[in-house]
Amino acid sequence: MLSGPKIRSGPRPRIVLAGGGHAHLHTLRRTAELTRRGFDVTLIDTSPYLYYSGMATGVVSGVYTPEEDRINVRRLVENGGSFVEGRVRKVRAEDRALVLEDGRHVPYDVVSFNLGSTTSPEAAADNDVLPVKPVENAAKLNRRLSTWDGNGPVKLLVVGGGAAGCEVAANALALLERRGKGGEVTLVERGGRLLGGSPERARRIIEAYLEGRGAHILTDAEVVSYDSGRARTADGGSLSYDLVVLAVGIEANGDAFGASGLPVGPCGGLWVDRALRSVADGRIFGGGDAISYRGMGLPKLGVFAIRQGPVLYHNLQAVLRGEPLRAYEPQKRFLYVLNLGDGTGLAVYGPLVWSGRLAWRLKDYIDRRFIAEND
Ligand SMILES: Cc1cc2nc3c(=O)[nH]c(=O)nc-3n(C[C@H](O)[C@H](O)[C@H](O)COP(=O)(O)OP(=O)(O)OC[C@H]3O[C@@H](n4cnc5c(N)ncnc54)[C@H](O)[C@@H]3O)c2cc1C
Repeated sequence: MLSGPKIRSGPRPRIVLAGGGHAHLHTLRRTAELTRRGFDVTLIDTSPYLYYSGMATGVVSGVYTPEEDRINVRRLVENGGSFVEGRVRKVRAEDRALVLEDGRHVPYDVVSFNLGSTTSPEAAADNDVLPVKPVENAAKLNRRLSTWDGNGPVKLLVVGGGAAGCEVAANALALLERRGKGGEVTLVERGGRLLGGSPERARRIIEAYLEGRGAHILTDAEVVSYDSGRARTADGGSLSYDLVVLAVGIEANGDAFGASGLPVGPCGGLWVDRALRSVADGRIFGGGDAISYRGMGLPKLGVFAIRQGPVLYHNLQAVLRGEPLRAYEPQKRFLYVLNLGDGTGLAVYGPLVWSGRLAWRLKDYIDRRFIAEND
């Protein structure tokens, strides 16, 4: 347990949750309990829905509808607390208030940030370049591929050969195959192999799978620009496309921290200590992709954010009561299952790798249960 000074507050201390992401769900589900204990709870988010990334690539292939892939965070907080629709721009720590994009101020006694992450914005100006974040873009990709009526089969370029890029490529192929549309899918990776950081066996399986379904895989190739259907690579080459999916350059949604003078880590996330508390301000906490845990980057995965949920729930109350804070310990191993879009999956747990129908069924079960728990 960690200790800290008691935070002074009014008769009903105000807990403000900035962003209704995965790390806040544990607290949001307990809003009624917090209200009974004498706290006021407010959630600020740009949308009443959290789109769940675990099922997002299933939205690309059409296995799930966008409505099946979302959690109504507004409904969760309105069970005793209040919802403010808006975008957090800045923290005014001296006034204990968050400033929203439209100028509104939301006062707090303690605040927790769970703003997620984004893909590098430079390509966002091109309508044919879709970043994987926000996760809602999965539905846009499904629509673009399903309604493609250009000349010849659609040329899809997926940039980034990590788990998200591989899953998007597999699910796009599954959709095109099911619709009988045909299409050319190219997956480009800057590093020497797909699924960097995963066991070699996972790489072999995913490469054989994607190539077996007709995808082109380019490794050691870095795309540096996109312009009207032509992507340039660092070695001077070019690739033509109708549509690009960007699964690279994921950074913390950290504008609000920098603009407020709060310390951030190398990946732009709010620098927090073991209690998930800002190293500069005892009233400010955070979780998920938008933090830099002890100055390091954790893997940008929902499974880490979810494990932080109970720690944030405890610490937000404890700091207001002057009680000891809990420390968060990142898990050393975690299960990651790629949905391959055809009723099979590729599961990775530490050094263990297996693929097939059972892997997909397990993922589908875990993901549907997660959505149901938060309904
Ligand atoms: C295609 C794809 C597949 C993935 N699959 C998996 C998987 O299977 N398993 C896994 O563990 N991880 C997976 N991930 C990673 C996962 O998406 C992230 O790690 C996870 O979403 C992080 O959760 P979070 O709570 O930090 O943020 P999010 O879940 O993104 O939530 C952030 C919230 O903050 C809100 N917000 C953002 N900015 C503001 C603002 N300024 N003001 C107010 N509200 C704001 C957003 O609307 C959102 O509700 C995948 C990612 C991608 C792209």
